[in-house]
This record gives sequence, structure tokens and C-alpha cells, in this order.
Amino acid sequence: MRLSPLISISIGLVSVTITSIMLSNTFFDVAPDDYKQTFTYRRTLAESLAVQYSTLAGQGDFTTIEEAMDSLVERTHDILSAGLISVHGEILAETLDHQNLWTPPPNNESTLDHVQIPIFQGLARWGTLQIRFQSEQDVPTLDILSSPWTRFVVTVALLGFLGFYFFMKRTLRHLDPSSVVPKRVKAALDNLEEGVVILDPNDQIILSNTAFLRQSGKDITALIGSDISTLPWVTTEAHVAEDLPWVLARTQNSPQTASPRILIQSENTFRKLLLNCSPINDDAGRVTGVLVSFNDVTELDLANAQLVETLQNLHETQDELLKKNAELELLATRDPMTGCLNRRAFFEQLDQLYVSAKEGGTALSCIMTDIDHFKSFNDRYGHALGDQVIKVFVKTMSECIRPSDIMGRYGGEEFCIILPKADSSYAREIATRMCRKVEAESGAKIRTTSGLSITASFGVSAICPETVDPSELIEQADQALYLAKEGGRNQVKTWEPESCEELATANKH
Ligand code: GH3
Ligand code: MG
Ligand code: MG
Repeated sequence: MRLSPLISISIGLVSVTITSIMLSNTFFDVAPDDYKQTFTYRRTLAESLAVQYSTLAGQGDFTTIEEAMDSLVERTHDILSAGLISVHGEILAETLDHQNLWTPPPNNESTLDHVQIPIFQGLARWGTLQIRFQSEQDVPTLDILSSPWTRFVVTVALLGFLGFYFFMKRTLRHLDPSSVVPKRVKAALDNLEEGVVILDPNDQIILSNTAFLRQSGKDITALIGSDISTLPWVTTEAHVAEDLPWVLARTQNSPQTASPRILIQSENTFRKLLLNCSPINDDAGRVTGVLVSFNDVTELDLANAQLVETLQNLHETQDELLKKNAELELLATRDPMTGCLNRRAFFEQLDQLYVSAKEGGTALSCIMTDIDHFKSFNDRYGHALGDQVIKVFVKTMSECIRPSDIMGRYGGEEFCIILPKADSSYAREIATRMCRKVEAESGAKIRTTSGLSITASFGVSAICPETVDPSELIEQADQALYLAKEGGRNQVKTWEPESCEELATANKH
């Protein structure tokens, strides 16, 4: 807990006062001494009793002395016993248990509880009066708390504190630097949304408007007079190397603008502030202080962070969407087993290639192919192995085509390849390469106990000026494929008008 400067000063002044009183008492002995007072009282009492008893003793009336002693012990609560002793040590009169209670004091001198008074007759000592009082620790006047001295010190401390507090309050008001600021200027500063403080050349806050009190979460008494550098600023790695902006403004005599800082407000809250620091100069240009303003950008910063996060999420969602779209596109256009274009996608792309070939006057050719005796693979080895044969067949063919060529699954194990900017002789060359490669390599790639012999037949066609549509190109390649099958399979046939006319005639019969 931090005490306000006013309370601290008042406590300090009270301490000085009490210390002064204590020291004065030590040197001048002004305070009443309870011990001394009690001892004096007891001696005086004993002396007056000695006078009375010596008169009675002179008359030899020791019985009256003893009666007087008994009644004295009975009525006086701090006297325990009394005894009258002759100079020869003979007991002349005493209370009942005086001999038990009396212990000769050290050096035969009276103490607080053992008081003895010599009795003289003329100049000669005649005897001694011994009075045994209550012991020191039983004397209630020595109780420290109830002693008048303690009460005096406590009263001075309390009244002193109150007096100093109100006096200092009035005095400090005149000394408070912020009080010299005209009221309307202070009111204008307090109306600002921005926090504003004025620092002296030692970076101590001499004025703060209410906005900065809010931003710092402190009250005016804690803030005024404190060093601004000691407020709970958060130092990030970026700030370690550089000086504090108000220090830079003061030492370099130049304004510092938009310096971001984080100020901890309470255990769980902080404010992000943008600081502007301007040096205050006197007529000679010397820096006499710094004006610091604090623009609170906490909410803006949080909103920005949220926006960045939202944008990030949006980008991630967009990327995810594009990925999903690509996957969907693949699913929609590709044959899942072989990865070739499916029929719909194949015909769409064929249409485009056909149009650009026609418009550009470039070549376009087609290869239609079908695995020979495929049914027998299924029948002999099962459908799963049949699938494997189809995949190996496609892979082998795809190693022979260019990236610009397209391959589609036309039917079960029948595939169609379109070769843009390629005439029928180039297509035939490619088909022949495929035919050889399938025969040479495909069988070995299938894992069976007995080696497989895989072959395929190929039909080739190309567009010519008379071709009317893409399906005509496909149709002609299909007819050439038929001829290849008819010709004994595992071979390539190219569509030619004559041979195909024969075919058409043959089909009629
Ligand atoms: P040909 O030499 O005349 O072409 O004889 P073929 O036995 O290959 O006859 P065809 O081309 O007509 O046979 C096609 C067979 O392929 C019929 C069908 O059972 C089978 N098939 C079609 N699609 C698939 C497939 O995806 N997987 C498997 N395992 N078999 C298929
Ligand atoms: Mg077949
Ligand atoms: Mg077939």
C-alpha cells in the first residue's frame, strides 16, 4: 500500500516531534518519575511515623506503639509490616510477622520496599524504625500504559498528526504545481480524449489530465511527483535497445511522435498507447520539461488483430475451397480407375481441339485402341486382375504421348487419343510405338504365376477438309480399329476411304 505524500509528511513530522520530546526528557529530566515520587512519599510517611513513635517510646509506651503499628498495616494497603529496633538491636515494638517480612537491605540503605528511619535522642542515635512496603512490581503507578507520561506522548502524537495533516494540506495546495495551471486550461485538458502529462526535467509528473488517470488506472496523488519511467510499461524486444520517447525528447530537444507503448493498467488489463512527446523550452531554448500525450489505440489494435485473423481464416477457407474445387473438377472429369478423361470431359475437349484445328487449318488426328481378347483375362484370372491389366495398358500408352495430347476412356477397355497438330502418319507412328510397347512390357508388369501376353489393336484417323464434325474423326478411327481386329489383332490400321468403303459394304452384307 502506497501512502499519499500528505500522510507520509504528517507521520514524519509527528515522529520528529516525539523524538524531540524523548531526547529533551533524557537530557533535562522533565517527565515525572513514578519511582522517585513513590520513594519520596514512602520516606516522608516513615519519617513522620518515626517522630510519633519516638515520642511514645520516650514515655515507655511500647504497647500503644504496637497498637498504632497494627492499625497502620490494617488501614494502609501498601504497608505490610513495621518494627521499632533499639540501637542495640533489641526489638521494642513490631507487627506480628515483621521479622519474617523484613530482610536487611543492601548496604543498610533504604529501598523502595524496605524503608528504615534512624531515630535520635539529642545527638545520639537511639534506634531505627523499619517499615516494609509492598514490592516494586506490585506498585500500580509504575504500569507503563496507564502512566501519565505515556498518555502525554500518545496525545501529542495524535493531536500532532491531525494538526500537521490539515496544515500541510493547506500548504501543499500552494506548492502543487498543477494548481498554478489556470482552471479553464485544466478543464480543457480534462475534456481531451487523449491522455496528457507534463514532466519536469527529471521526468517526474507535475500535471496529469483525467484521461491519463483513466488510462494508467492510478489516482492523482500516486501519479503526481512520480517518475513516469517507473510506471508499469511493458518492454518488448523492439524497445530494449531504444531510449524511452520522453527521454529522447528531453535529451535531443526534438519531438518524438507515434511511439507505441503498452501500459499495464491492473492485473488483467493493459492499454496500448501511441505516445507523442514534445520538449518544453524556456526563452533561452533550454529544455524545462516534456509534454507527453497518449493516444489510446487498444480497441483499434484489438479490432485490427481480429481483422487480420478473419482475413487469415478467409484465405485458408479460400485455399481449402480451391483445393476442394480442384478435387471436384478431377472427380467430374477423370475416370477414377485409370485417371484418363471420362467420356463427357473427353468429348468437350475434343470439340475445342477440333474447332481450333479447323479454324487454324492445322492437323488433328485420332487413335482408337482396344485390348485384344480382354474377356479371357476376366474369365481366367478374375475381374480384379482385369482392372490391373487396364491400368497397366493405360500407363504404357501414356508414356508414348505428348502433354498436349488427350486420352479418354471410350468404353470398358477401349481408349481414344486425340493428337493436336499431328497428321495421320505421325499418329500412326505413335500408335505403332504403343502397340510394340504394350506387347513388350505390359504382360511383365502384371503379377501372376503364369506370364501374361497383353496386346492391343489400334485404328488411326486424321481430319481432312471434308471432315464435317469430330464424331466423324472418331468414327473413322473406330472403323480402322475394326480392320486391325479383323486383320488379326496386335496391329495398327489407318483409316483410308477405299478400305473403309469396303468395310462399309462388308458391314451391309
Ligand atoms: P476383342 O479382342 O475382340 O476386343 O475381344 P474382347 O474379349 O476384348 O472383347 P470386348 O472388347 O468386346 O470385351 C470387353 C470386355 O471387357 C467385356 C467386359 O466384361 C470387360 N470389361 C469392360 N470394362 C471392364 C472393367 O472396367 N474391368 C474389367 N475387369 N473388365 C471390363
Ligand atoms: Mg477388346
Ligand atoms: Mg472392347
